[in-house]
Amino acid sequence: MDVVNNLRRLQARIVTAARRAGRNPGEIKLVAVTKTVPVERIREALAFGANRLGENRVQEFLNKYQQLPPEVEWHFIGHLQTNKVNKIIGKVNLIHSLDRWELAEELHRAAIKGGQVVKVLVQVNVAGEKSKYGLAPSETVDFVASAVGLARLSVEGLMTIAPWSANPEEVRPVFRQLKDIARKVEDRVTGSKMDYLSMGMSGDWEVAVEEGANILRIGTAVFGERDV
Ligand SMILES: *Cc1c(COP(=O)(O)O)cnc(C)c1O
Repeated sequence: MDVVNNLRRLQARIVTAARRAGRNPGEIKLVAVTKTVPVERIREALAFGANRLGENRVQEFLNKYQQLPPEVEWHFIGHLQTNKVNKIIGKVNLIHSLDRWELAEELHRAAIKGGQVVKVLVQVNVAGEKSKYGLAPSETVDFVASAVGLARLSVEGLMTIAPWSANPEEVRPVFRQLKDIARKVEDRVTGSKMDYLSMGMSGDWEVAVEEGANILRIGTAVFGERDV
């Protein structure tokens, strides 16, 4: 359960997996997912140099934001209620979970009010799971086309959460499809830039790297099992 050892091992494996896939390891960003992890353990990761952190709940994020140093680059990765947008704007570097139009409008309003640009990824429910948020693949191109019209919202790519599977090979098509959707968006939406594919978690990130992920969201493999 040593965070530093876990990170060391993980980083080495990311380098190997990237090279195996013919990719430059330097283009792959690790977001250490800190939900439920106490601040003292998170500090171990920061001391190691892992300063990109992901949280999925607003209140928990705010608590940690207050306690941890400003060098942290925060990523918001959970479903976001419109009435909480104002609490996180200006504090998070990238919101991975733009999953509906109402939220796009609210983020845009908040961005104007705060005099800034809000960076987002569009969450796609590739596998169509009822339990998960996100756009249907067939809606994604039109959604991004509309979002590009919101000047203070910067859509930087796509995010997906693959279905849970004991065998990560089974979710390879999900990752491949997200990349295909990103290509389609780039082809069809003028002014769009699909810089980031946020896909891959503790159980499936190697397959995600092979399929083009450049942001990995990894919790358990860094901090150990969560009790909740
Ligand atoms: C919890 C979470 C992760 C990390 O999951 P692990 O399996 O612990 O690596 C990644 N993405 C999202 C959106 C999450 O909520």
